[in-house]
Amino acid sequence: MPQSLTLALSKGRILDDTLPLLAAAGIEPAEDIKKSRKLVFDTNLPGVRLLVIRATDVPTYVELGAADLGVSGKDVLMEHGEAGMYEPLDLQIAGCRLMTARIKGAAVPEGRRRVATKFVGIAKQWYAEQGIQVDLIKLYGGMELAPIMGLADEIVDIVDTGNTLRANGLEPCEHIADISSRLVVNQASMKMKYRQIQPLLQRLEKAVADVNQRVES
Ligand code: AMP
Repeated sequence: MPQSLTLALSKGRILDDTLPLLAAAGIEPAEDIKKSRKLVFDTNLPGVRLLVIRATDVPTYVELGAADLGVSGKDVLMEHGEAGMYEPLDLQIAGCRLMTARIKGAAVPEGRRRVATKFVGIAKQWYAEQGIQVDLIKLYGGMELAPIMGLADEIVDIVDTGNTLRANGLEPCEHIADISSRLVVNQASMKMKYRQIQPLLQRLEKAVADVNQRVES
């Protein structure tokens, strides 16, 4: 009888890209995740189940071993810290950039900058590396509003198409990091359940390679 394996998925935008990748790897939820309000799903693979949780909670579940594996954006991992987890595979989905942004045409602020973001850990480190002094303002959403309302000089946020920034009269400025979603594995699970995790990893690795080959050809 195989041990159970739990894979935590990030809800929302990342889930839209994760489900086709899981399908390509031969991992199918027992029911339609999108049409259900459940949080735990069995799959076609014996003992393998899926959790569907908030993206920011995935590293916590995996770090503490409540899930053996997880799918998490690199932004979320960088902000959470990656202790207790391995990151064996870049799934190459949900690609975007982490950037600073200001009101279009605004001059580079002189002196100490007020920066609004939900990524305070990443921002603190990045501005320190640039030698820029900042006052960080933690927000939980709608960062674009902060410069418009005079709450901050600039923001640090995720940019994909740039439409959200443009729609609010902002423009992307400095590039902080390229982001994609990663497979993370609890370090203890990797040792204790290696015989189950390894084939799953191989399936996912192959699915990522196949999807990218299809895109290229
Ligand atoms: P866009 O308007 O296409 O630049 O999308 C930017 C907004 O969508 C950001 O405010 C993010 O909150 C969200 N977003 C876009 N791509 C991602 C992603 N891969 N992961 C998380 N959030 C994203």
